[in-house]
Amino acid sequence: MAYRAWLECVRGCGQRYDVGQIVYRCERCGGLLDVEHDENELARRSPAAWIQLFNERARTNQWPYGSGVWGKKEWVAPWIANENIVSMYEGHTNLFWAERLGAEIGVPDLWVKLCGNSHTGSFKDLGMTVLVSAVKQMIAEGKPIRAVACASTGDTSAALAAYCAAAGIPALVILPKDKVSVGQLVQPIANGAIVLSLDTDFDGCMAVVQRLTEDHSIYLANSMNPLRMEGQKTVGIEIVQQFDWEVPDVLVIPVGNLGNVSAIGKGFLMMKRLGLISRLPRIVCAQAERANPLYLSYLTGFKEYQPVKAQRTLASAIQIGNPVSYERAVKVLRQFDSIVEQATEDELANAAARADRTGMYCCPHTGVALAVLFKLVERGDIGRDERVVVLSTAHGLKFTDFKVRYHQDALPDVRARYANRPIELPPDPEAVRRAVESALAGRS
Ligand SMILES: *Cc1c(COP(=O)(O)O)cnc(C)c1O
Ligand SMILES: [Zn+2]
Repeated sequence: MAYRAWLECVRGCGQRYDVGQIVYRCERCGGLLDVEHDENELARRSPAAWIQLFNERARTNQWPYGSGVWGKKEWVAPWIANENIVSMYEGHTNLFWAERLGAEIGVPDLWVKLCGNSHTGSFKDLGMTVLVSAVKQMIAEGKPIRAVACASTGDTSAALAAYCAAAGIPALVILPKDKVSVGQLVQPIANGAIVLSLDTDFDGCMAVVQRLTEDHSIYLANSMNPLRMEGQKTVGIEIVQQFDWEVPDVLVIPVGNLGNVSAIGKGFLMMKRLGLISRLPRIVCAQAERANPLYLSYLTGFKEYQPVKAQRTLASAIQIGNPVSYERAVKVLRQFDSIVEQATEDELANAAARADRTGMYCCPHTGVALAVLFKLVERGDIGRDERVVVLSTAHGLKFTDFKVRYHQDALPDVRARYANRPIELPPDPEAVRRAVESALAGRS
């Protein structure tokens, strides 16, 4: 069956473009573009039949449908031929029942979606498989694309470099010098990308990559490009699928450039229109206090919006003052019951460490989401009987320096309440026994 999709201006000016066209903004009004699907055609298959199809494909080796993204291909990118798909079986990440942490904070039905348990260690893989596949198809059709480029706070560049390396397409990544973790920096280096380190912040890198990609032979991979949204929207669909097609009450998402929350909202709205679900979750956006333009706009009911100069934050992947997808996100958030809240450095670091004590291994951005969750539960904005899902956006192992310095109580503006120091001793069994006894006594 031929499902149709096209690019359409998010400002509602009605302008449409072919999905294979290289265009990042509406040429009529300057608005961002979204991929739109022919939902009348999709609606010819019943909700029960879609659910059955998605369930049958999940995690199978029927390439490419075993991928969490490509198992929903008809809803994501039906125009891409299977031979052009560049997939590393992204998605189907585990949804972890945070039993101990939930009991501690009084929300027993607390879950964490571990999006970082993925090929390059963040949810960015979900979008990048779609974008790089689309580029591979454009090249196959004869478009003169020489490279794919992105500005990044670390995870987008890691995903772009890996997927491009798998496809044999040159990747060009532009990073703010000294503002990404060592783990994130070495990922594109290992995958052979051309890595440019600029003495500016993310917003400065974004401005440069937009100029660079005015030359259409260098393709823009930032989330301004709507193709990545199509892959990222599957995470919300997957969460519902993992709950046997029941919608959780609340989703908590750490946000920076606002692409991910726009994508997740888009996925939920699509499921609702196509009848797979009958209600929407509440969406909580969690920002770092040091990079909080969405929070400030939320305080005005989204009537006003001012980009900010993002300050240095431990949550480096969301250190963004001028989010590219602001207009997309607000359009989506208005359709949900939504809250935006912020977290300080001290709150995010201690929230991550507290969750680690219950078996997780949280990145700082997941710390932002958890800190916001704790606040909203204390304030009564999230009820104790609600089913809450926190999006963990990256793997904690990418942020070793953050963890090490936390446990040395050496992070600026953080008092490490859960610091755990190794006990150094001579190799003397008696001294070790005494140290063990005293440590265990401290825990009881
Ligand atoms: C990209 C990223 C985010 C934020 O997603 P946006 O789409 O920029 O809002 C959050 N956490 C991590 C770890 C990320 O890499
Ligand atoms: Zn327009």
